[in-house]
Amino acid sequence: MVVSKTLIKELLSESDCSHSKIKKSGCDKPKPGNTSGGCAYEGAQISLFPYADTAHLVHGPHTCLGASWETRASLTSYQGENNTPLGYCTNITSQDIIFGGDKKLGEAIEYIVTKKRPKAVFVYETCVTAMIGDNIDHICKTAQERFDIPIVPIHAPGFVGGKNLGSKLASESILSFLIGTKEPETIHPFGINLIGDYNVTGDMWQYRGILEKIGVKVVSTLSGDGRIEEICQAHRAKLNVLVCAKSLVSLCRKMKERYDIPYISVSFYGKRDTSNALRSIVRALRDENLSKRAEHFIKEEEWRLEKMLLPYKKELSGKKAILNTGGNKSWSIASALQDIGLNVVATSINKSTEEDIELAKKYVGIVFKNPSIDQPKLIDEHGIDILLAGGRSLYTAIKKKIAFVDVNQEKKLSYGAYAGLVNLARDVSLALSNPVFKLVGEKAPWES
Ligand code: SF4
Repeated sequence: MVVSKTLIKELLSESDCSHSKIKKSGCDKPKPGNTSGGCAYEGAQISLFPYADTAHLVHGPHTCLGASWETRASLTSYQGENNTPLGYCTNITSQDIIFGGDKKLGEAIEYIVTKKRPKAVFVYETCVTAMIGDNIDHICKTAQERFDIPIVPIHAPGFVGGKNLGSKLASESILSFLIGTKEPETIHPFGINLIGDYNVTGDMWQYRGILEKIGVKVVSTLSGDGRIEEICQAHRAKLNVLVCAKSLVSLCRKMKERYDIPYISVSFYGKRDTSNALRSIVRALRDENLSKRAEHFIKEEEWRLEKMLLPYKKELSGKKAILNTGGNKSWSIASALQDIGLNVVATSINKSTEEDIELAKKYVGIVFKNPSIDQPKLIDEHGIDILLAGGRSLYTAIKKKIAFVDVNQEKKLSYGAYAGLVNLARDVSLALSNPVFKLVGEKAPWES
């Protein structure tokens, strides 16, 4: 696979992306400084790291490895050695820049395969190794023939753009080198691929069990709790389900063209969205009995959930919240917060697509783009009780003496599907009753 200008242009003007349909424009082109929010290599690694049965080898300086390593609690049920927290790197030095890093890469692959016995190896290209022109494709191909396991080059060097583009490029490698390379023993009539959920804090586990109870089989995942053997068989699924990840829409479109697999986009945050997601999946699989089973299950689960949420809803009713997370979470988490009785006054639309912005406006009255300026202003103007955001916004909450809950990847518990909503309600309730947020912004006793 070659990362040509044509491929990057194609990925940045995805015909199935919302901005192409709404604004008739392409994605934002990479700008200088763009990678300060995470480079393409980081995006690629974040989206593939959850394959715990695969060794992730970074071909570059070790500082690249540190950029995205261990930033997300992607959980796995893999019984063998978990490769996700292991940081493999060729640690390219100035010597290698002069003489080339090919030999070092070949030796690193040999070491990993013989000592660790992973199911596959992903080799991530970085800025340095892309610029010195190491022939990663050739080394991976030779190693694959020698060791008889997939050795996949991931061409997403940091300089080509931001995280989003890196995630798209990673999916290009998966499509080129893995999907369609193995035939399953049986083809399930209701087999689906779950695409774009990284199972952070076990979010995917909250709804995977529900799907299986209804009778839907998860053929493969990209990449939460993923397995290499399963993704190789993904071409035999009947439906691709894109979970909260617009960046992988190109992969879904290409699988539709290549393997005739339709795709839908869903969210599993909150009661309404979880029920809607289940309905959308069974509707797309077109089976009356499956739909009946799903409806029956949804009714039972919603009844059970409401009973558990009742005490929280009473407590949280009328409390005002601001959500600052961005992307598709600008509306999906907002909907979950409304489901537990909070009044979501405003939501940030940072890094949201046109489609996300339209949806966010349907759920929430005020949308804002510049959190550092808008967030404190909105807290004062509307008498906000709680801020739900990523870790960096904690300081705004402390300054304003309001409660705070981390809803980004640093969160500790899953907020996915029905059971996750109870976790969210509990965390919001605990934060609102926690005196620390008011106390910590006060002067120390000896200062006053
Ligand atoms: S790939 Fe490039 S931009 Fe990304 S961390 Fe490495 S050097 Fe930095």
